[in-house]
Amino acid sequence: MSEAAIERAVDVLRSGRLHRYNTIGGEAGEVAELEAEYAAWQNIPYCLATGSGGTAMQIALRALGLKAGDPVLTNAFTLAPVPGAIAAAGGVPIFVETTDQLTVDLEDLSAKFEATGAKIFLASHMRGHLADMEKLTALVERHNARMIEDCAHTMGAAWKGKPSGNFGVAACFSTQTYKHMNSGEGGFLTTADPDVMAKATILSGSYMLYQRHLARPVDEAYMNARLEMPNCSSRMDNLRAALLRAQLPELHTNIERWNARYRAMEDQLNGVNTLATIKRPPEETYVGSSLQFMLQDGGDADMRDFVARCAKRGVELKWFGNGQPVGFTSRYDSWAYAPPQDLPQTKQVLASLMDIRIPLSFSVEDCALVGQIIADEASG
Ligand SMILES: *Cc1c(COP(=O)(O)O)cnc(C)c1O
Repeated sequence: MSEAAIERAVDVLRSGRLHRYNTIGGEAGEVAELEAEYAAWQNIPYCLATGSGGTAMQIALRALGLKAGDPVLTNAFTLAPVPGAIAAAGGVPIFVETTDQLTVDLEDLSAKFEATGAKIFLASHMRGHLADMEKLTALVERHNARMIEDCAHTMGAAWKGKPSGNFGVAACFSTQTYKHMNSGEGGFLTTADPDVMAKATILSGSYMLYQRHLARPVDEAYMNARLEMPNCSSRMDNLRAALLRAQLPELHTNIERWNARYRAMEDQLNGVNTLATIKRPPEETYVGSSLQFMLQDGGDADMRDFVARCAKRGVELKWFGNGQPVGFTSRYDSWAYAPPQDLPQTKQVLASLMDIRIPLSFSVEDCALVGQIIADEASG
């Protein structure tokens, strides 16, 4: 955390006004200011700050009119809060297969729209990998459905220069500690749709104070939402907003720092024929805050052994092939509240998938060294 961020947080603490609607005089408050700043950064009209990325997704699903028991399609390769948000909003998570480039399989997505009649696809850009966003949006439209984007790993990413998050009807971001901005917990919902924004704001717990928001539609948009939407209490507070307002101007620089580290690590892996890195398409602007690769030609025992050998040399990898969920890593077959589903292609992809976070506290040289150790162990 930068000194500037800490100072701003201390100012909020000294003021005692931590609740977003606890404002005095003509001030908008840290949260409303942050929403306006993030909307501008994202190049979209409306932004709502929330308690977490997961609750932003729950709110988005409800704002789109999800009813109890409705199927919602989502990536089989994603993080637990994604199917969790679908379940919390009353939906039934239906998982879609994963390509060897770690993106949603468009053929399977089309088949599952047909088979389930689902009207919402919660697209999770897991580990920052974007599908062909033009093909994807066309496919969703063809099925008369709507897309919510989970941009937890794509804050700052783009497809052909258009920001990730501006392709669906709404997008959800996380500002949890392990994402691209850090407020401990927190999230954003962004949209260009006045009705979705009005509903989402009431859902987040705005009481009748929605006029205090800045990145919002005109009053008329709230006329029905204000009485029809339940208050689901997921507001951001001024303390976290102050931390994020100090970080937002640094985001562009941090993206460059992540990418320099990503490339240093990837460079070491590119020549190794016992593993395969993920090719980044030229249309994609990515944020290299983590790196994935497939270790080839091995069984579960080899994968475990490889992870253990890297760990011994101080390199902590996550292996998505583990049958048992560990740490932050669980997968579709451990989300037992969803109907049982068979995803052979995803299972095969995950069986050899290795993942490593790239913290900015590592130098570029550190990342090259980590890459070298991985390359060593993969060849040896
Ligand atoms: C972190 C994360 C979320 C949600 O984040 P929280 O803010 O922790 O609720 C959603 N999707 C993915 C892929 C994530 O990694």
